[in-house]
Amino acid sequence: MEFKSSYLQRVYDGLESRNAEQTEFLQAVREVLESLEPVVAANPDLEKWGIIERIVEPERVILFRVSWVDDQGKVQVNRGYRVQFNSAIGPYKGGLRLHPSVNLSVIKFLGFEQIFKNSLTTLPIGGGKGGSDFDPKGKSDMEIMRFCQAFMTELEKHIGADTDVPAGDIGVGGREIGFMYGQYKRLRNEFTGVLTGKGLTYGGSLVRTEATGYGLCYYTQEALKCLKNTDFSGKKVAVSGAGNVAIYAIEKVYQLGGTPVTCSDSTGWIYDPQGIDLELLKEVKEVKRQRLTEYAAARPSAEYHEKAAGEHGVWSVKCDIALPCATQNELDANDAKMLIENGVIAVCEGANMPSTPEAVEAFKKAGVLFGPAKAANAGGVATSALEMSQNSERLHWSFEEVDEKLQDIMKGIVHNSLDAAEKYGMKGDLVAGANIAGFEKVAEAMIAQGVAY
Ligand code: NDP
Repeated sequence: MEFKSSYLQRVYDGLESRNAEQTEFLQAVREVLESLEPVVAANPDLEKWGIIERIVEPERVILFRVSWVDDQGKVQVNRGYRVQFNSAIGPYKGGLRLHPSVNLSVIKFLGFEQIFKNSLTTLPIGGGKGGSDFDPKGKSDMEIMRFCQAFMTELEKHIGADTDVPAGDIGVGGREIGFMYGQYKRLRNEFTGVLTGKGLTYGGSLVRTEATGYGLCYYTQEALKCLKNTDFSGKKVAVSGAGNVAIYAIEKVYQLGGTPVTCSDSTGWIYDPQGIDLELLKEVKEVKRQRLTEYAAARPSAEYHEKAAGEHGVWSVKCDIALPCATQNELDANDAKMLIENGVIAVCEGANMPSTPEAVEAFKKAGVLFGPAKAANAGGVATSALEMSQNSERLHWSFEEVDEKLQDIMKGIVHNSLDAAEKYGMKGDLVAGANIAGFEKVAEAMIAQGVAY
């Protein structure tokens, strides 16, 4: 599809020709730029100050070798990344992903999304992302520790509490953050809030573990109230993933009166018509780090299905609300069609960019409430920013205090998105609203700070 604005078209064409192989990154940029058409048309200053061409180019890309020694004494080499995308409104902030599918395109798409997500939280944080193609699956605790230390030995040179503050993402939870933080402290001899998602005994924040999943449900609840005059109570909910985001989304769905009936991992998925057994899921995934086959073996009411190409997985289950919480492009046009036929009323994204552009278009056409990732899953980074505040103050807030702030932030994101969409004639469009509301603040800060020459 062509852009209406010749400025946007020129910037996108240039970006595409320079990064032709970076398909995920281009997908994320196109989605944002499409929403910005009316903003660019109304604000000539954006072109004058080169805002669009600057915002799509990372301020800095760091690519490095990570050599570590496995349990057999053999040297292993992985590739490490940190993309410091935009620091107009605060220090770079965004997670670290450890997964074999990590490459520059994936990290750039995540870093780009992070700019707008972080802006939407209303907190002073810029956008960044990092990670490695290291595969944590099947590694011993000692191997994970040696990898994390080797990774931090290089990353340490580029981050800091006022410069760049990484956190977790796929494959990086409390264990990995602990190992990385220990190494940072060893190298720098300073105890600062340089990573978030830390353990509660050394500067972590209450609610950070739950924040993305809880925040997703607070966002969905508010959007349902505003746009569909309903809420979670009595609703059947399909969730994908079985990691940090999925587990705490499932927990909050129960607390809000819904019934989550599915979850999945990279090899298979569960349909549990009686509702997912949350304690069992936590035991299998968080404590024992096992496959979902172990969940099915311990739960007679659950059906286990192997993941199969071309099948709909959890999206074949009839549900009122769908919460994709695994990974990018996990929900395509065929899955969207199935969900729509089965009467879904809302789809809100816990994972980053889990729905393909064709799926998003199908939901829009069918009048399904669609909450995009950069808004719906912003609760994690918002709570990370609250962790940074507590670290700076050398104070520790209560669970209730953090949770209340998280709820306010997520409700605020829904309302700011709806207001921005309405301002530009796209009433009720949460995708355009999130992109515009997130963009406007960053663009204003970039213009105010000028260009060095
Ligand atoms: P985890 O590593 O805790 O869990 C990821 C889950 O998704 C696992 O169940 C994993 O299965 C599954 N998964 C990963 N890759 C694939 C794949 N290629 N195909 C199918 N399933 C897959 O990660 P998180 O829960 O932290 O992250 C999930 C999503 O949420 C990501 O998109 C992340 O960027 C996003 N997100 C996370 C935030 C956070 O605070 N953690 C904040 C905002 C967004 P398996 O175990 O088999 O690999």
